[in-house]
Amino acid sequence: MAHPPVPLTVQGEARVFGHDPAAVTLQVVPRTTGWRAGRALRWLAAGVIVAPVVAVLPPHAPWAVAAGTGGVVLALRKWGERFTLVGLEGSCPRCGAPLVHHGSTPLKTPHSTACEGCGNPVALHVDLSDVEAG
Ligand SMILES: [Zn+2]
Repeated sequence: MAHPPVPLTVQGEARVFGHDPAAVTLQVVPRTTGWRAGRALRWLAAGVIVAPVVAVLPPHAPWAVAAGTGGVVLALRKWGERFTLVGLEGSCPRCGAPLVHHGSTPLKTPHSTACEGCGNPVALHVDLSDVEAG
């Protein structure tokens, strides 16, 4: 087993339309090409394995196509996951409630989340050029 990846701390901005941006601190795990390829292949394999199994059920073909497509879509999503967001510290620019992040999700740029205080969508802008994974 490889040692668990150490999250990096990056500074960003939480933006809500019509409000001043607030500073946020994000914990992200950079993903290597090998990690992304491994996860992507796992999803592709899952699609290939699941497709003939679900194709037994009527109406057959749509299930197989859905399973195959789902595998490809999830594989592509994993391939595009350059950073995983594992932690978030900051407050909502609109209501000041602490922004919380549950679990780990692929980081998008900008990453959208929702404030648990006011329910407003919050866009997280992060400059990842300094911590770009090799
Ligand atoms: Zn809020």
